Amino acid sequence: MSIKVSEISKLYGKQKALDNVSFEIKTGEIVGFLGPNGAGKSTMMKIITGYIPQTSGDVFVNNINVLDNNIEIRKDIGYLPENNPLYLDMYVTEYLNYIAGIYKIGKEKKNRINEIIEKTGLQTEKRKKIGALSKGYRQRVGLAQALLHNPGVLILDEPTSGLDPNQIVEIRGLISEIGKEKTVLLSTHIMQEVEAICDSVIIINNGKIVAKDKTEKIQGSTTDNYQAILVEFNNSIDTKKLKALKGVKKIIHLKGNNWLIQADKSINIRESIFNFAVKNKYTVLSMQKQEKSLEEIFQELTK
Ligand code: ADP
Ligand code: MG
Repeated sequence: MSIKVSEISKLYGKQKALDNVSFEIKTGEIVGFLGPNGAGKSTMMKIITGYIPQTSGDVFVNNINVLDNNIEIRKDIGYLPENNPLYLDMYVTEYLNYIAGIYKIGKEKKNRINEIIEKTGLQTEKRKKIGALSKGYRQRVGLAQALLHNPGVLILDEPTSGLDPNQIVEIRGLISEIGKEKTVLLSTHIMQEVEAICDSVIIINNGKIVAKDKTEKIQGSTTDNYQAILVEFNNSIDTKKLKALKGVKKIIHLKGNNWLIQADKSINIRESIFNFAVKNKYTVLSMQKQEKSLEEIFQELTK
């Protein structure tokens, strides 16, 4: 179950919500679609699911063009829209029955509903009205609704937005679990969410993609041309000598015998620091490359 987005643009009147967006998601990946409010995340998701048409470009799900095969494609896609619109007056099982009807799930309907209730942890709440559920459980109902017809692709638009910290952890756990057997695109404006559950990340800002890569690669990347190393020595050091090392740009004293050393990216500065320590009879107690957090990278890319 793959998704291919090719040169998608979307105009709302004169406003360009998406500007030539392309990306691919391979089978089994959980991809984070990260961007500030108004970046174009929901618009992209509505286009992928066939709910609104693009202005130009193509979307393929499983190599099938979504525009041409809207009805067919929806059988393979589970969609949790932004703000999870639900019928609050319906009971949980009643609602899932109704959804099963829409997807024409036949005689296995009852089993399927029970299975999904189990999977999404709705056992204790299944006899309640949706309106009586907590936001976390409503989100589970939204996920159940998206999973009911057993689609290969899941499109989740800000699935944890508005939840309290405990509910967030629970829903993330559930998505990670479900994601093992699905191809998932999940939008969020929370970096930690991507760090917590996504293999890859696509960062979007003002309708344009500004970065896409494996989560750990994006974390290792930086638009700066220096690296930062955190070092703890056994003693206070002679910063003049350290500063004289080739490639060292800046030394910042942190607490105790901890130092942050910024150096040219092209230099193997850790080796130089180690040799410096040996030569000057210091001991390196610890040395650590400072990775930028996704948060910092995100701010850099979207400012
Ligand atoms: P996100 O989900 O990343 O917050 P959206 O896709 O909802 O972003 O919106 C992208 C841009 O398109 C925003 O500037 C938004 O105001 C605009 N937009 C979204 N939906 C509509 C619409 N139906 N009509 C006009 N403008 C819209
Ligand atoms: Mg949105």
